[in-house]
Amino acid sequence: MPAGTGASGRAGPRLATSAVYLLLRLKVLALPPDTCCEMKAQRKTLNPKVDESSRSKTGMHTCPSCSSELVQPVRWFEHGEGQWHVDLRCPDCEWWGRGVYAQGEVDRYDEELDRGAQALMDDLRSVTQANMEDEADRFAAALATDCILPEDF
Ligand SMILES: [Zn+2]
Repeated sequence: MPAGTGASGRAGPRLATSAVYLLLRLKVLALPPDTCCEMKAQRKTLNPKVDESSRSKTGMHTCPSCSSELVQPVRWFEHGEGQWHVDLRCPDCEWWGRGVYAQGEVDRYDEELDRGAQALMDDLRSVTQANMEDEADRFAAALATDCILPEDF
């Protein structure tokens, strides 16, 4: 067994894919709401067909194509008094939408995004805690069965 890998053969703690996604997403969400940002990750759709007529009846966070509640803002800017031009994207079905929304609608969307970010933070804490407990259990089991030797360090 190579040094430093322990009984499980893993090199260190692992993060769930969703936790990595969370970190990337929070970095984007941490920008002020009137800031336009560019995503560095390559999208599945490079030249999306933008739907300018469909809107979900349950809010901007819901996809009118597949009903996913993960619709993300891609670009936004003020469009007159109390109005915002917003480009949206659904990560589940690659629906792209564009429209002008009233301030109240954008405020409700912002609250949904905050609620989603909080849910992801809660999940990150749970996943991190579970990973740490798993690592501790594996380490204790390895110690108990003499699978970790002085030459491992
Ligand atoms: Zn969708």
